[in-house]
Amino acid sequence: MDTVADNLARIRERMDSACVRAGRSPDDVRLMAVSKRQSPERLAAAVACGLRLFGESRVQESVQKWDLFPPDATVHLIGHLQRNKARDAARMYHAVDSIDAERTAVALNDRLTEVDRRMPVLLEVNTSGEESKQGVDTFDDLRRLVDATRSLDRITVAGLMTIGPISSEEARLRGAFAQLRDFRDRLVTTFPELDLAELSMGMSNDLEYAILEGATTVRVGTALFGVRDR
Ligand SMILES: *Cc1c(COP(=O)(O)O)cnc(C)c1O
Repeated sequence: MDTVADNLARIRERMDSACVRAGRSPDDVRLMAVSKRQSPERLAAAVACGLRLFGESRVQESVQKWDLFPPDATVHLIGHLQRNKARDAARMYHAVDSIDAERTAVALNDRLTEVDRRMPVLLEVNTSGEESKQGVDTFDDLRRLVDATRSLDRITVAGLMTIGPISSEEARLRGAFAQLRDFRDRLVTTFPELDLAELSMGMSNDLEYAILEGATTVRVGTALFGVRDR
């Protein structure tokens, strides 16, 4: 079986060559290790490789494994946030990358106020049109969500997140990632005072296309750790 270190070397190569193709600096694209449903041993191997940026899908799972993350790790929630989990999310994570409704943003902001913390968030957009995906569907919905979150004092919108379509077609994948970038660019025109630099897009199977379309963070699970448990 491949080790996490071997997998990491291959992912870095993929990221580096995509950056060369895109004419971008490798320093401009971060690798987030998606540690959901991976064993403590694999997580420890990633930490030993120097990885410090992690993505988790479920609040309850993160609560149970929190001690596995080193103190200098940065852990983001990338899965859907239920409002009844906002309290744990507020005290635990460094960021929530999957805000797609005003009421969720408000719930998180309220809980952050209680624990006297602040955090950056990303707004999730459904760029694939797939029913199963979370995220706001249209630019108008996104604009309204940005407008609604501007007054919340504990969260700062730092950019956008999307999950690409289930497809291996370059045009479809790049089209979805280009849409996220386009939405971001239009938001910046609408709200020039906001800094929306972050574009979190691209996973194990499509990170090259995401980098070509401007990803600043790629979120990689199986290509790094292997197939998930359960
Ligand atoms: C699971 C997950 C990933 C990682 O997917 P892989 O295909 O295993 O790389 C990335 N982003 C989100 C939001 C996820 O839920």
